[in-house]
Amino acid sequence: MKKVFITRRIPQNGINMLRDKGYEVDISSNESPLTQEEFITFLKSKPYDGVLCMLSDRIDAKVFDAAPSVRIFSNYAIGFDNFDIVEAKKRGVYLTNTPHGGVDRVAEHTWALILALTCRIVEGDTYTREGKYTGFDPMLLQGMKVSGKVLGLIGAGRIGTEVARIGASGFGMRVAYYDIVRNEKIEELQNVTYWPTIEDVLKQSDIVSIHVPLIASTRHLIDAERLKLMKESSFIVNTSRGAVIDETALVEALKTGAIMGAGLDVFEYEPGLTSGLTDLKNVIVTPHIASSTAEARQDMARMSATNIIELFENGRPIDVIQ
Ligand code: NAD
Repeated sequence: MKKVFITRRIPQNGINMLRDKGYEVDISSNESPLTQEEFITFLKSKPYDGVLCMLSDRIDAKVFDAAPSVRIFSNYAIGFDNFDIVEAKKRGVYLTNTPHGGVDRVAEHTWALILALTCRIVEGDTYTREGKYTGFDPMLLQGMKVSGKVLGLIGAGRIGTEVARIGASGFGMRVAYYDIVRNEKIEELQNVTYWPTIEDVLKQSDIVSIHVPLIASTRHLIDAERLKLMKESSFIVNTSRGAVIDETALVEALKTGAIMGAGLDVFEYEPGLTSGLTDLKNVIVTPHIASSTAEARQDMARMSATNIIELFENGRPIDVIQ
């Protein structure tokens, strides 16, 4: 009987799929992510065949050493920056993700952050709750209209393309995108233009939205120098991975008014926050929930369980990273 360890409670559909195959499934009951020590203790307790893991679980040499029987680490996430791909390759261990889990939802959340920033929703809510609203004021909390403005995309894969579609067709925005690979699908949309450098995009955009994976070449892709290129009236939104932006440089840019505001679902030192970030009124933060709907979470449970089942039943998972 195959033994599978799940590092955090996930929607029941994924657990049922594994149990219906007759696998023995153990699930961590921790209310927070496992520390690597706790994770390794679990892995050593049984000769597991597969692990369904979270983006907060670092899967590196120490983990592979502790679990020589594990043939697959199936990430419950689109991103996979928690994987040491080189170490997995050396050992012939499969690594998988859920590339289609929640793409449209992450795009919607990106738009929720863009609109919350430009309509000053959080400031307005706080102001009203605090009893400061004493009557209509033509000068109060003026925001920025997005219609007709320039949306700059850094990374135009699955999520970036959906964000572009909403911006171009919903708000009549002009979309300027940069990606290391040109994307024919996004260019089929009206008013979407490819630019050959990040700098081109940053300089002209009213809203910049980041949709690249976190890999060595994208760590601090948006640094102090690049933030300086953005318009003072512009906003930046990040629903990809925190470390793509140098968060210390971002706090400085927001404090000095070099840019107008930021909307962040992800953080460089997640779950920690860079000092000063949440003191700023022009920042909206959400706790890495961009794909958090019941539908998306169930899809991710199904896809991550399917990858394990496909390996054991048919010899190869579907969404192979390595
Ligand atoms: P994707 O692979 O479809 O698209 C990523 C794009 O980034 C690709 O087109 C790629 O060519 C491009 N890219 C890579 N390096 C680049 C660089 N240096 N400069 C410019 N472009 C570069 O991925 P996706 O499905 O669109 O997801 C993007 C990221 O969003 C994921 O890697 C994940 O980390 C993150 N994500 C976050 C959440 C969340 O809950 N906040 C949920 C899902 C995904």
